Amino acid sequence: MSKPFDIEIASLTDALDPCCATALRPSSDARNDPGAKSFYIETFGCQMNVHDSEKVAGVLLARGYRPVDAAADADFLLYNTCSIREKAAQKVFQRLNDFKFAAKDNQKVIGVLGCVAQQEGEEIFERAPWVSLVCGSASYRNLPNLIEQVESGGRRVTGLDLDTDETFETEITRRDNPFRAYLTIIEGCDYSCSYCVVPHTRGPERSRASDSILVEVRRLADAGYTEIQLLGQTVNSYRDPSPRKWNFVDLLLAVAEIEGIRRVRFTTSHPNDFTREIVEAIDSTPALCDHIHLPVQSGSTRILREMRRTYTREQYLEKISWIHGARREFSLTTDVIVGFPGETEADFEETLTLLDAIQSDGVFAFKYSPRPNTPSLAMPDAIPEEEKSRRLAVLQERQRQIQIARNEKLVGARFEVLVDTHHTARSQWAGRTTSNRIVNFSTSRENFLGQYVQVHITRSAPNSLIGEEVQGGEAE
Ligand code: SF4
Repeated sequence: MSKPFDIEIASLTDALDPCCATALRPSSDARNDPGAKSFYIETFGCQMNVHDSEKVAGVLLARGYRPVDAAADADFLLYNTCSIREKAAQKVFQRLNDFKFAAKDNQKVIGVLGCVAQQEGEEIFERAPWVSLVCGSASYRNLPNLIEQVESGGRRVTGLDLDTDETFETEITRRDNPFRAYLTIIEGCDYSCSYCVVPHTRGPERSRASDSILVEVRRLADAGYTEIQLLGQTVNSYRDPSPRKWNFVDLLLAVAEIEGIRRVRFTTSHPNDFTREIVEAIDSTPALCDHIHLPVQSGSTRILREMRRTYTREQYLEKISWIHGARREFSLTTDVIVGFPGETEADFEETLTLLDAIQSDGVFAFKYSPRPNTPSLAMPDAIPEEEKSRRLAVLQERQRQIQIARNEKLVGARFEVLVDTHHTARSQWAGRTTSNRIVNFSTSRENFLGQYVQVHITRSAPNSLIGEEVQGGEAE
C-alpha cells in the first residue's frame, strides 16, 4: 500500500501564505519568438501578489515580450515583493544584490514591484542603483506607460501613487494554475489594523465593476476553468462601483450562475463585513464552496481593540454561530497573531478558548513582529521572543488536537475532489474538496489531473484526509 502523507497546518488553506516564492513559468500559450525580448518575474507573498504577477506578465506579453524560466535568460527582470515577512526590506536588497551582476554583464533591466517597492520607494535606487523601475501595486494600472519609459532608456522610473480609485485591469492575464483561476475583485484596504502595512502599501479600497468581473469569469469558463477564487484583502467589503451597485453576495451569486463554473471560493474576509447573507448564499448555492477563511487574530476583546480590528470576541463568535447553524457542513479556517504588545497570559488563554469554541479546520498562526509604518511599532509592553515562541507552540498543539478529532469524524465519508497533484513517488493523487480539505488518494486510473472524482475516506491525519477513489463514482 502506498504511504500516506500529511502537511503542516499552515498549508491547509492557501489563504494568505506570506512567505512563498514563485517564479512565473512559461506556459504553452506563451509567445516563444526567440527574437522577442524576454522577461522573468519572481514573486513573494500572498495570492494577491501571485495574481498581480500573472497580470503584469499579461502586460508584458501584450508588449511582445516572451517569458523565460531563469533570471539569467531574461532581458527584463521583475521582483514582486512582500512586506509581511520579517526583515522584508533587508531580504529584498539581498536578492537585488544577486540580480546586480546579471544587470551589469548583460544590460538587463531590473524592476521592483509590490509592497516593499511602495514602502521603500526611491530609497531602492539609492541602495540598488542598478534598479530602473520601482512600482507599488496601486500604480500597476500605469505599468504600460512605465515600461515604455524604461524601454526608452529611462532610469529611476517610479509608480508610487497611492491616491487612486482605479483598479488594475489587463487585456491578457497569464495564469499559471491550470485548475483554479484567481481573480481580484477588490484592491487596497480602508481598515487600519495597527499591525498591518497593507493600507500603506496597497492604498485605499477600490472595487472592480461587476460587468468586467463577469466578462472575465465567462472567458475563464470558456477556457476550461471550473474553479474561480475571488481575491481581495477584504474581499467581502466588495461594493460594485457601477450603477447596479451590487454587494458581495449579489456578485457571488452571479458568478456561481455562470455556465461551466463548478466552484467559487473567496479570500480573505473581514469579520466586520461578514454577514448572515453570505452564509445563506453558500447554504443555498452548491457552486459556492463551503469554506470560510475568517481571520480572528485574537480571542481577547482587549487585544482586538489594541489591534483596531473593529469587532469584539462576542461579535466574532456570533458570526461563527451562523456558520455552525448552516445546513451545509462548512469548513472554517482563521488567522491568529500571538504575542501582540501587551498580550497577557489571560488574553492568550482567551485565544485558546476561542479556538476550542470555533472548532476550525486550520489556523495560520504567527508570532507578532513589528513592521515599519504601522501604529503598533511604537506600542509598549513588547512580549519577549521566547514567550512568543512558547505561546505559538502551545496554540499549534491545541489546534492540532482539534484537527485530529475533527478529521477522524470524516473517516467513512465520501467527497468530491478536484484532482490537482500527482505524487509519483507515492503513487498517490491529491486534490481538494469543496470545503478546501486536502485529500490524498489511490486509484488504478491514470492521467486525470483537473478532473472531479469521488473519494471514499479511509484514514485521517491532522491536516489531510486519505482515501480511495470510488470506482464508477466519477462526477460529471
Ligand atoms: S483588514 Fe487589517 S489586516 Fe487586513 S489588510 Fe486591512 S489593515 Fe491589513
